[in-house]
Amino acid sequence: MPNRLTQKKNTWCSGCGNFGILNAVQKAFDLFENETNNGESLVMTSGIGCHGKIFDYLNTSGFYSLHGRAIATAQGIKLGNPNLNVIMFGGDGDSMGEGLEHTLFAAKRNENITLILHNNGVYGLTTGQFSPLSKIGYKGPSTPFGNPESPFIPIPMILEAGASFVARAYSAKINDLSQLILRGIKHKGFSFIEVLQPCVSFNNTYQYYNEKIKPLEKTNLTFEEAYLFSKSIDPIYTGLFYQIGKPVYSDQVIPENYHPEERKKQEKRISALRKYF
Ligand code: SF4
Repeated sequence: MPNRLTQKKNTWCSGCGNFGILNAVQKAFDLFENETNNGESLVMTSGIGCHGKIFDYLNTSGFYSLHGRAIATAQGIKLGNPNLNVIMFGGDGDSMGEGLEHTLFAAKRNENITLILHNNGVYGLTTGQFSPLSKIGYKGPSTPFGNPESPFIPIPMILEAGASFVARAYSAKINDLSQLILRGIKHKGFSFIEVLQPCVSFNNTYQYYNEKIKPLEKTNLTFEEAYLFSKSIDPIYTGLFYQIGKPVYSDQVIPENYHPEERKKQEKRISALRKYF
């Protein structure tokens, strides 16, 4: 099994929920490799924010994208080579703010990629400004008297947009999260996994989540049940809310005779580009 970590120094705050996500992703990639012997097909993208540092730590090919544009990058990678399994990491500011329309349209298209949403309810990297998922009353540098806005609830929104695999997990439950990530990668269609991720420095929600989180007991939920269960705030349900099969974007738009492996080799592409630069 390849070493899943790079040599980069980890600068996440001690106790950050991102560590749980990093561990779960490594486990999920190992499980995927074991099951499919196709670990080389795993490719990642990330946006900008604390979550995005996962790109530095995870020893996987990919593209460190712009703020809010990782989902567009992920779709581009998939269209360029549909044989790849593309996993995108996004923060709540990144995928639910700056890049929200990309997220919704990727779900609408049901592109065959996986989005792992690091939901810490705050802009952590820039020291605690409120995000689209911050709770009412959240106090930070940009909302010193408390956030007056209601947060988005990502799962009902993404269900409505058309995602075909929708789940929620908690970064402190690493085994459950790794299983959901594995299932998301293997799902054919847009898979969305919201991960409740405490930010110990600016939004420490460990105690809150430890009290409120409850695994879904029911399986094979209908769309309406998934919608209702995902909106509950006490308890906050985790698990797989919804999964259906439906047509995938890249299957519909890529011609049958398109074989990415037959395209020009990298050296030829680079020498062709050198003519212009
Ligand atoms: Fe994690 Fe928050 Fe620290 Fe960022 S600021 S590394 S999200 S604890």
